[in-house]
Amino acid sequence: MTFTTRFAPSPTGPLHLGHAYSALLAHDMALAVGGTFLLRIEDVDQSRARPQWETQIYDDLRWLGLDWPEPVLRQSDRLPRYVQTLERLRTMGLVYPCRCNRADIEAAAGAPQEGVPQFGPDGRIYSGTCRNRPLSEAGATDVLRLDMAKALTALPPRSFTETGPARTGAHRLDPDALIHAVGDIILVRRNMGSSYHLSVVVDDADQQITQVIRGADLFDATQIHVLLQALLDLPTPTYHHHRLIRDEAGKRLAKRDDARAIAKYRQDGATPQDIRTMVGF
Ligand code: GLU
Repeated sequence: MTFTTRFAPSPTGPLHLGHAYSALLAHDMALAVGGTFLLRIEDVDQSRARPQWETQIYDDLRWLGLDWPEPVLRQSDRLPRYVQTLERLRTMGLVYPCRCNRADIEAAAGAPQEGVPQFGPDGRIYSGTCRNRPLSEAGATDVLRLDMAKALTALPPRSFTETGPARTGAHRLDPDALIHAVGDIILVRRNMGSSYHLSVVVDDADQQITQVIRGADLFDATQIHVLLQALLDLPTPTYHHHRLIRDEAGKRLAKRDDARAIAKYRQDGATPQDIRTMVGF
């Protein structure tokens, strides 16, 4: 299969140096082997996505010298596809409705205990209060969760290959870690019709992505993605989690870090080569 990768920004703020590094790395890696670089707009969370940020993404990436095949896939156009995928997990009896709000989840978690993780790659680890609620009880404001322990009983052992510098090698899914350090992840968020995890897995499969190149902050989420691929009979790409671009204080750049927005550097007269140099190419 030809090397196919993607850059998948969410249009919820300006692209900054961290995004530039990710996009340039994925683009250059594809180019080096005659592969394909795709752009995907991860706007499934419509409450946070804004058209002006999407326009700015195209503009900044073109300015950086990148190109990609059209049409660009946008998650907001694909809700029926996510619903159809969720249906498979529902039929397998792995999905339940959860009405707990943040305060309920915190209260149910109780006081922190030594050695017991409280947060995982999907946020606070859910204690399972609603786990036995039937889907027929799902209310309009409920989220839908995956019953992790049940999902694992349905699953053959699965692993993924990581080629990023920090954790190169084969990583086998660890059922114990998935139950205790990840928990019952959200498949459908309130008012969203899907979730990042569900959408990204479906999109990577539909776009025939062979290499997922993204920041090291998403390494821990990869076990969720590989688990969903296994449950849904989807192929597992090779993963490459790259170093994160940090500010002078060593802090990872955040979405709201407008001071390091590519647009700001452009305004100040930087060239695309300056950006490459700043991120360490
Ligand atoms: N949309 C995610 C972000 O902007 C990237 C997800 C991914 O590459 O899997 O952080």
